[in-house]
Amino acid sequence: MSRTGTCPRVLIVGAGLAGTATAIRLLRFARRPLEVVLLERRYDYRSAGIAYHRDGNPWDHVFNIQAGRMSVFREDVLDFVRWANREADRRKWPAPWKEFEFVEQGPAPRRIFQDYLTDRLAEAGREACPGVVLVEADGEAVDLEVHSAGVEVTVRGPGPATLSADHVVLATGLELGQPPFASEVLEHPSFVRNPYSAAGVRKLLALPPEATVTIVGSVLSAYDSAGLLLRRGHTGKIHLISGTGTIFRAYPAGHAHGVLQLPCPTSLLEPYRNREEFLARVWAEWERACAVVVRDHPDVDPRVVAERVAKAWEPHLPEAIERIPSAELRCLLDDFGTAIASLRVGAVEYTMAVIERAMQPPDGMVGLVVGKVEKVTPATSGRLTVSVTAPREPGQGHAIEADLVVCNVAREWDYSRVERPLWRNLLGRGIAVPHERTGRGVEVDGQGALLGPDGKPAGPVFAVGVPREGDEIVRNGRTGAFAFNLAAIKNQSIAVAAHVIEQLELGDGDLALGTAQERGHVSKAEEAGRAGFEEAVVLEVRRLAARARRERELLGSRLDARIRSMGGPPVLPADASRHEGVMRALVGRAAVQRLTDVSVTPRQLRRHLGLANAEE
Ligand SMILES: Cc1cc2nc3c(=O)[nH]c(=O)nc-3n(C[C@H](O)[C@H](O)[C@H](O)COP(=O)(O)OP(=O)(O)OC[C@H]3O[C@@H](n4cnc5c(N)ncnc54)[C@H](O)[C@@H]3O)c2cc1C
Repeated sequence: MSRTGTCPRVLIVGAGLAGTATAIRLLRFARRPLEVVLLERRYDYRSAGIAYHRDGNPWDHVFNIQAGRMSVFREDVLDFVRWANREADRRKWPAPWKEFEFVEQGPAPRRIFQDYLTDRLAEAGREACPGVVLVEADGEAVDLEVHSAGVEVTVRGPGPATLSADHVVLATGLELGQPPFASEVLEHPSFVRNPYSAAGVRKLLALPPEATVTIVGSVLSAYDSAGLLLRRGHTGKIHLISGTGTIFRAYPAGHAHGVLQLPCPTSLLEPYRNREEFLARVWAEWERACAVVVRDHPDVDPRVVAERVAKAWEPHLPEAIERIPSAELRCLLDDFGTAIASLRVGAVEYTMAVIERAMQPPDGMVGLVVGKVEKVTPATSGRLTVSVTAPREPGQGHAIEADLVVCNVAREWDYSRVERPLWRNLLGRGIAVPHERTGRGVEVDGQGALLGPDGKPAGPVFAVGVPREGDEIVRNGRTGAFAFNLAAIKNQSIAVAAHVIEQLELGDGDLALGTAQERGHVSKAEEAGRAGFEEAVVLEVRRLAARARRERELLGSRLDARIRSMGGPPVLPADASRHEGVMRALVGRAAVQRLTDVSVTPRQLRRHLGLANAEE
């Protein structure tokens, strides 16, 4: 698709949650004509991706987290719950959901998220400024080349073979890996490679109730498969096999999100001799921090103490992580990533209640097997044999025969091994490099731009979501939050969309905003107009958060007037329109920082930003 006229184009690759959220923000933020192209290789994944598409998510699959945390807008916490209660078309919903009153702390079926995102994307398109349009294109981006005039993307699919764009945002999501233990059974009828595929769900639903099932993995997606079977009256044994024995806890009823301020775990910043010593320090600091929470915050439910500590530590972790050699960091993430996630995140009662009940007595219907799966092979009985080795005892294992083996979503986080042509080509062309410190995702800068081997952006190509996993860990300390989770995606989509719009508005010549000299101007400008600047930032926050075009326009004109009246120090460039553009960009950056502030909960954020209504 070549461009007509002079309207700039932003191409988003991938229309799952991350791509859709970024498109919504671009449509809202743009004040001048812009074409936002949202490219998706699977029509059934549009506005959904693997996590929420209807064919892979029966009604029993509910969100891993409470419905009140699923709003696509961080600054409007209850948007999803309100949509589900008041706007969703429930005509085809089954009981009990058809009459269900959704609440902030309760469950919601994951599949309805697809309708929610579709509705919100359509609304953003309708409410966009004149000339700002959304184009939904089908096809797979397989390669891209950076030119002086923009980016040329090669697409495989029914539409045009190439798409040119001024900026590209990669929201390609999870990459599935090949489970090495299953090479002999990938096509076996009793093996489920992807439990979130239509074929995978069909196999689970067709299983006789007394069948023996083995689920490889014991984290959140394992509970979906086990919960689905149990709710349908399964009576056979279900084995959950886990390398670490991690089981997520359920959030207590009425659990509310919270961020505490806790002292920095300073001993993690000191040099250490070896891994044992480091782990001993982590443990000692952890116990101390938990004790502080219990002592100083008696209102915190004992089941949430770990979560509060994990979140409070996040701002301190980048400094601690900096001191860990890369090889060691990679091993620690491999060994403890899941365990840390289980401290940081809980699962909802709706899912966990059935699993926990079925785990009682200890030899109950659902059993946890701690060990590493070595191989899954066809058994002479026609079933499958799963060979498991006990931890730290190679050779000491046992075999479990099962009628169905479900492979939990095995992701490939090492991008040098990702097989999809797009990432192979990006790495081959030096447009992206694997994340050096963690081996997870790719290198990006603070704005989310892909970095090449020389550590510089190879072009206007950005990433949102999963490809930024390693960067989120080292930059923001998000070790235990599944770096690609909803909260991270929401913030990245705001920041990338705002940055892209800023670049388009300022134009090439003005991108020096980030240089040292300009930064000097910036702080002087901020100093000079402190009160006016603050007022402008508040207006911009409200503009960025506004859903209706009319409201955005009103706020935009007030903001323009405010910026014009602010003037500026004489060191700023004389040209008035450039000056205004730069001031606007500064105000925009400050507003984005506030909208994406993770040191407060979304609810606190609304109050801080003056967005809360009287009811709240
Ligand atoms: C099974 C599962 C359940 C989850 N449940 C929850 C939950 O309940 N709550 C929560 O907060 N988080 C949940 N998460 C975590 C997180 O919210 C999801 O991972 C999130 O949806 C990821 O969004 P994404 O857009 O980055 O990736 P994806 O949803 O994977 O979307 C990426 C999209 O890009 C498309 N694509 C990829 N490459 C190309 C290409 N080259 N060209 C064109 N299109 C391409 C893919 O087809 C896909 O549609 C879950 C994750 C998983 C895996």
